[in-house]
Amino acid sequence: MRAVVVGGGLGGVAAAVALRVVGWEVVVLERAAEFGEVGAGVGVMPNALRALRALGLEDAVRAIGTPRVSSGVRDRRGRPLFRVDAAEAEHVVAVHRADLHRVLRSALPARCLVTDTEVASADDVDADLVVAADGIRSRLRAELFPGHPGPVYAGTTAWRSVTEARFPRDLELSQTLGPGTEFGVLPLGDGRVCWYAATVAPEGGREADELARVREVVGDWHDPIPALLAATPPETLLRHDIHELAAPLPAFVRGRVALLGDAAHAMTPYLGQGACMAFEDAVVLAAACARHTAVPSALAAYDRARRPRAQAIVRASRLAGRFGHRLRHPLAVAARDAAVRAIPTSVTLRGAERFLAWEPPALSPDR
Ligand SMILES: Cc1cc2nc3c(=O)[nH]c(=O)nc-3n(C[C@H](O)[C@H](O)[C@H](O)COP(=O)(O)OP(=O)(O)OC[C@H]3O[C@@H](n4cnc5c(N)ncnc54)[C@H](O)[C@@H]3O)c2cc1C
Repeated sequence: MRAVVVGGGLGGVAAAVALRVVGWEVVVLERAAEFGEVGAGVGVMPNALRALRALGLEDAVRAIGTPRVSSGVRDRRGRPLFRVDAAEAEHVVAVHRADLHRVLRSALPARCLVTDTEVASADDVDADLVVAADGIRSRLRAELFPGHPGPVYAGTTAWRSVTEARFPRDLELSQTLGPGTEFGVLPLGDGRVCWYAATVAPEGGREADELARVREVVGDWHDPIPALLAATPPETLLRHDIHELAAPLPAFVRGRVALLGDAAHAMTPYLGQGACMAFEDAVVLAAACARHTAVPSALAAYDRARRPRAQAIVRASRLAGRFGHRLRHPLAVAARDAAVRAIPTSVTLRGAERFLAWEPPALSPDR
């Protein structure tokens, strides 16, 4: 059986790896001239680490990601609202996106990866299965679901970068909530640190000096935020307005096409689950293809397994933004901080289990 994956982002390449594990021939068609990812970090959550384990890649990802450190949520002055000791819970492994993409690609022979190839229509693809992994602005989604409104602006803009300088290995993995803004610190395995700042803003805003703008917003927040900004070369800073698929798709499949990753369920990044869900999609799709000999049955099983979970996380992520950094009124911010501080860590961790406790289906008897 032969699959063509349209789009070689993290989701598409993970899908190719997973389908090869179950014995499919796979080609990934990527429109860009090179495979790769932007210079920012991505948090790989415990559910996604288990998906990567099913692909035989968990150890390689852990080796380049955050060492075992404590994590937490703070207010802008640095006062802890919620804290998890390193030994207390499964931890998030942050990795440089380019490194994560390289690890995924390393599991594929070069002949599976084709660049400079833009797919205009699913009808142009000769394959038993087409995986539409062409991202948030998916052309295949627009073709297959012409009535769907597509992505909408979520009201927040985000800056991201990775420091050049190395920081102490025990730096906490943290999220800081301020009025209308949040700042995230994601230490990498080699001492560099990915950070992001997300703030409520009109769509399409751009500054001559984006780093100066970030300093205006969070430059007086707690340590190590000013030091992280000082260690960031301005030319490495990325700025993206956050969009999401606010209207859920009626199906993740149509004919012999399966939508996967942002093409199926682009979400706000406030729970750090976008790429993680794409890894889950990849494993579930491959498991369905292994279990069902007929592609339509496999795709029906994929849709049943993935759509309710992914769309629930899209909604939860939106809510996390609404009651997280998007609150701006001082009374609302104070009430939120008090509530986060008051809830016992064990209760918060149990709530997060709904997303994080996912187990991958078996791909083969030995994996
Ligand atoms: C600020 C920010 C922070 C985030 N942080 C996290 C995080 O911490 N954890 C997490 O899990 N997720 C996070 N995400 C979400 C995550 O980045 C995405 O969910 C994930 O990268 C989507 O991967 P994808 O492969 O589905 O799509 P993409 O990465 O968009 O890949 C799509 C690929 O398809 C190619 N393509 C498009 N059209 C065509 C075509 N017609 N023909 C051929 N190729 C085509 C594109 O060039 C691209 O390479 C974050 C997102 C943002 C914006």
